[in-house]
Formats: sequence, structure tokens, C-alpha cells
Amino acid sequence: MEYKNYINGVWVSSKTGKKFESLNPATEEVIGKFQKSDREDVRKAVLSAKNAFPAWRDIPAPKRAEYLWKIRDLLIKEKERLARLEVKEMGKVISEARGDVQEAIDVFEYMAGEGRRLFGNTTKSELPNKFAMTVRNPIGVVGLIAPWNFPIAIPAWKIAPALICGNTIVFKPSSDTPLCAIELIKIIEKAGIPRGVVNLITGSGEDVGDEIIRNKDIYAVSFTGSKATGEYVLKNAGIKKVGLELGGKNVIIVMDDANLDLAVSGVLFGAFGTTGQRCTATSRVIVHDKIKKRFETELLKRIKKLKIGNGISSDVGPLINKSALEKSIKYISIGKKEGAKLLCGGKPRRINGKGFFFEPTVFTNCRSGMKICQEEIFGPVLSILGVKSFDEAVKVANGVEYGLSSAIYTENMNYAFQAIEKLETGLTYINSSTIGSEVHLPFGGVKGTGNGTREAGILGIEEFSEIKTVYFDYSGKLQKAQGLK
Ligand code: NDP
Repeated sequence: MEYKNYINGVWVSSKTGKKFESLNPATEEVIGKFQKSDREDVRKAVLSAKNAFPAWRDIPAPKRAEYLWKIRDLLIKEKERLARLEVKEMGKVISEARGDVQEAIDVFEYMAGEGRRLFGNTTKSELPNKFAMTVRNPIGVVGLIAPWNFPIAIPAWKIAPALICGNTIVFKPSSDTPLCAIELIKIIEKAGIPRGVVNLITGSGEDVGDEIIRNKDIYAVSFTGSKATGEYVLKNAGIKKVGLELGGKNVIIVMDDANLDLAVSGVLFGAFGTTGQRCTATSRVIVHDKIKKRFETELLKRIKKLKIGNGISSDVGPLINKSALEKSIKYISIGKKEGAKLLCGGKPRRINGKGFFFEPTVFTNCRSGMKICQEEIFGPVLSILGVKSFDEAVKVANGVEYGLSSAIYTENMNYAFQAIEKLETGLTYINSSTIGSEVHLPFGGVKGTGNGTREAGILGIEEFSEIKTVYFDYSGKLQKAQGLK
């Protein structure tokens, strides 16, 4: 089956005539053929978004919200079909795929509510008979570039706030999950969104993505993906507003007073859920030396029970593609060379001779400076580091360039509050894993994980709107601020 781009409300082929394929990572079957678009396709989409902008902006936000609510309703109806498609195209297990679609439902619901807020502020002027306030305006045409690991939720996290703020959109999905993106756009189309407001172009990052970040008629870019690409986006986007959600080297600290069972469950879910391919995946565990042995024994027992296979009937699905598999393999040999001890896993698997599966893997006796403890592997590979104190745990936790998510398991309130203060991450969980964001709270990281923007929650609105400051003088004379005569 061949799929097309969506420009100005019409499904169209690229003039390039070129196509690329999306594969099922469990079976390596071709799921469909997609337009390998070029810069000219992006320019057409930008023009369509630019033309659609004034009318969309002028629809009152509570009315724009009605479209979002319809999208939410349609997503609810289609949830199971979309979740099964995610299993097929991205490889995540079905319960997580349902969760991914649920996040999209939640964010459209939340952002529809924002249609009746979109608050600005009022304040007092320093002059008499003068009124001062801020109002929230759309930015214009915004470019959205998404990764493959949450193929419906992440686009939804960007599209919903962009729409409610009154922007029009050019969206490029990951080339690993174009079909999930197309199905989301079909739902948006079915909800009756006016022509040109949402446009989708498939194709490579080098052509389609690059044109989005450089195009002069796009005033903001929201990007989620790797740190390397994020840096490229920032360097080349000129003076656009840029939102970056990048990688992580997320950490769980397990103190000697922790509820061990709970901690093991959190680590298991954090490290091997989504086969370690979440930006918030747990890739390091810092364990107090007093309980390290016991923790490892319990963790290994639980890992043995995990079933690897295609996402419908397994706990751990495949990696997204061959190069992701090769990346995990590479880090196993790096870890061994660095002197870490392999406790379990470390090998690729095939099922019926197919698929990019990889065994849940644990290294122990790791040191913070090792590459496996510093670099984002984005696979089911966990490193355990032993420490002697809380202070040492915090130092090791913070000793990486990333700063997305952290967690601590402890029964000691003092440690918990110190962790909130001292861990250099955008998210900190107490007694739960590094994953589990909710859409009404801001999401994002510090240090190498981003440039200070946040998605979701009220801060998701900041990313997609501009603040205008308004002075309304009703004195009938020329008044000057700062005491000028
Ligand atoms: P990439 O950076 O490789 O790709 C992300 C997107 O950028 C894709 O759509 C890709 O297109 C596009 N792209 C690639 N090159 C360029 C370019 N030169 N200019 C513009 N766009 C480009 O990341 P992955 O898709 O591999 O996603 C995994 C990464 O995303 C991980 O590092 C993960 O941590 C991070 N992530 C961060 C999250 C967060 O919120 N902090 C959430 C989820 C993931 P194409 O597919 O065609 O190459």
C-alpha cells in the first residue's frame, strides 16, 4: 500500500516519485510505501499553512477547542486499532501502545480545555488612566519534527497545543513510523479541521527536516529526537523559536532503606519497558553497597521471567531497526572492554529467523566515567553502580551531560526532599520509576536534554504562543512613562 503527503487538505504524491518503506521491526515485513519528499514539497506545505493561518487564528479559541474535542472523541473510538498499528510499526508491547494512544487522547482533552483559558495577565500602569495587560497570540506557521518512539503521543503533544494557540502546522514524522503519523492526521482530517491548518510531509531528516528548520515562513520549530540532531536544529534554525526535547541518561537511586520489591519493579519497568527506547528509560541504577547484592539477585530473578517477542504477547518487544540493534551490540562490547561485569543478556535474538530483538541486559560493577554510564544507548541495557552514601549517589547521578529524569527509592523523607533539590533533571520521581509522565504537568529536561522549553501542561502553551504586551491609555492626553516631561 502506498501512502501520500497531506497538503492543503488533499492527499498528494511527491513530485520526486521516490518512495521509502516502513518495516515491522518484529517480522521485518514491509508495512507500506511512503513519499520520499523533497524541499519543494515542504515549501508547498508551508504555503498552504501560511494561507490557512489568518482564518484559523480568527476562530475564537473556545471554538477551535471543539475541533480538538472531536479529535479526542475519534481517538477514543480508534484507540485499539491505533495501538495495534503501533505494535506493528514501532514494536512496542500492546499495553504500552494503548498507553501511547491514551496520552494523545489526554493531551487533546487537556488542550481543548485551554481554549477557554489561554490566560494573559493584567497589571497596573505607573500612569493614571492607563491600562496594562498581556494577551496570548499564535506564532504563525510552526514546524513539528517527531521521533518514532511515541509515534502517536509525541506528535499529539505538539499538534494539540499548536492548534489551540491558533497556529498552523507543517509536520514531519520519523521515517521509522510514518504510518502511525498518517493515521493520526486522518483522524484530524475526519474531525473536520479546515484545509491547510495541518499538513504532513514524509521524507528524510536531511531534506524534509532541514527545509522545515531553515524555511523563513516557519516561525517556530518543535523538535524531539537525539541530542546530535537537536544541536543541528538549533544551529541552523536562525532566529526561530526552537523547542528541543532530547536524550537522557536517566537514573534510579536505591537507598539501603528502600522497599526493595518496589525498587526492583520500578527498575524493571524503567529499564526494559519499551525495550529501553524511552527518552526517560532507566539506564543507570545507583544502589547502596549494603543492599547491592540482594538487589541484583532479585532483579535477575524478575528479568528471567520476561518474555521477548512481538508486542501482542510479550513483555519486551523488538528494537526499532537494524541500526538500533547494532548500537546495543556495540555497547555490550564497549561495556565489557571497560571492565563492567555482564550479569545477564547482551545478545540479539531472532524469532522465526526475523526481528530486531535484544535480550534485557544488565552490567554491574560499573564506574561513572564508563561510556555505558554516560552515553544514551536507547536499548534494554542497564548499568548498576554501587555507592556508599546518599551524597555519593547524588554526585554520580549528576555526573552525566543529560538531565531528563531521575528517581529515588527511600523511606527517608530527608533524602527524598534533598533528591528533589539536588538531582539535576527536569523530572524527579520519589518511590516510582523514571517513566510515567502525565499530560497536565510540564515535561522536559535540563543540561544536555534541552534548551529550557517544556512540553505538555500549561508550559506547552508557552512553546506555541507569543505574548503581546498591551498599553491602553484612556487619559486623552500624551502621557510619558519613566517621568519624562
Ligand atoms: P533523531 O534525532 O534521529 O530523529 C528525530 C527526528 O528528526 C526524525 O523525524 C528525523 O527524521 C529528524 N531528523 C533527522 N535528521 C534531521 C535533520 N538534519 N534536520 C531535521 N530533522 C532531522 O532521533 P530518533 O528518531 O532516533 O529518536 C530517538 C531520540 O529521541 C533519542 O535520543 C531520545 O532520547 C529522544 N527522545 C526525547 C524525548 C524527550 O522528550 N526528551 C522523547 C522521545 C525521544 P528521519 O526519521 O527521517 O531521520
